[in-house]
Amino acid sequence: MERKLVVGNWKMNGDLVGNQALFEQLVGRSPGSVDTALCLPFPYLAQGQRALSGSATMLGAQNLSEFDAGAYTGEVSGAMLADFDCRFVIVGHSERRALFHEDDLLVARKARAALAAGLAPIVCVGESLVEREAGRAEDVLLRQLDALARVLDGASLSRLVIAYEPVWAIGTGRAASPEQVQAILSFVRGWLARHVVDSRAVRVLYGGSVKADRAAALFSLPDSDGGLIGGASLIAKQFLEICEAA
Ligand code: 13P
Repeated sequence: MERKLVVGNWKMNGDLVGNQALFEQLVGRSPGSVDTALCLPFPYLAQGQRALSGSATMLGAQNLSEFDAGAYTGEVSGAMLADFDCRFVIVGHSERRALFHEDDLLVARKARAALAAGLAPIVCVGESLVEREAGRAEDVLLRQLDALARVLDGASLSRLVIAYEPVWAIGTGRAASPEQVQAILSFVRGWLARHVVDSRAVRVLYGGSVKADRAAALFSLPDSDGGLIGGASLIAKQFLEICEAA
């Protein structure tokens, strides 16, 4: 896709006062040549909706329920996110897979729920260090991607954003090398070409220790459509520099 997408994932960070300062430093400052979004914790979506309204930066969340509505204490539905003008929702982040036991099929059902609510799911896939060192990175990716195809038809798959986030590169300061990233992005593109008619409509991102100094090399890879940014999205200057590199 022509336009790159840079998404900030705040994870479980922020407070009302600090968020406001960050919004003031960010809003209206990202380059017009790139699409940007911020995925906030649920309680701050209303604040984000107000702060980002009228700006080019889109709003997103970090999780949603697989269910539509009803007796599911503590869950948040896709429709609720859409009510706050969310455009994106991260689904199946490795932290949710590892810490909250989300398996491949649950992730796929959450992606389906997001699509039903009119949101673009950013589905995270990626291998652990043990899996990479055992030469199983592509097997793991295939398992995660195939689960999506078991739940979603081709038209639905074409509305996903896929984020390759190798677990060993998240929050470690150790980004995957451009060669490692390109190899997997191309693998994901190959999978998409087999499952989606218009596979070029699907954006494929990379996430994992993306900082301003590495962003240009990662974003300029042939199969890169942008990035999913954790820690650096909490610092306005860094996030803006990353957006400018896209
Ligand atoms: P870091 O950029 O902090 O490594 O986090 C990446 C990530 O998990 C984004 O979803």
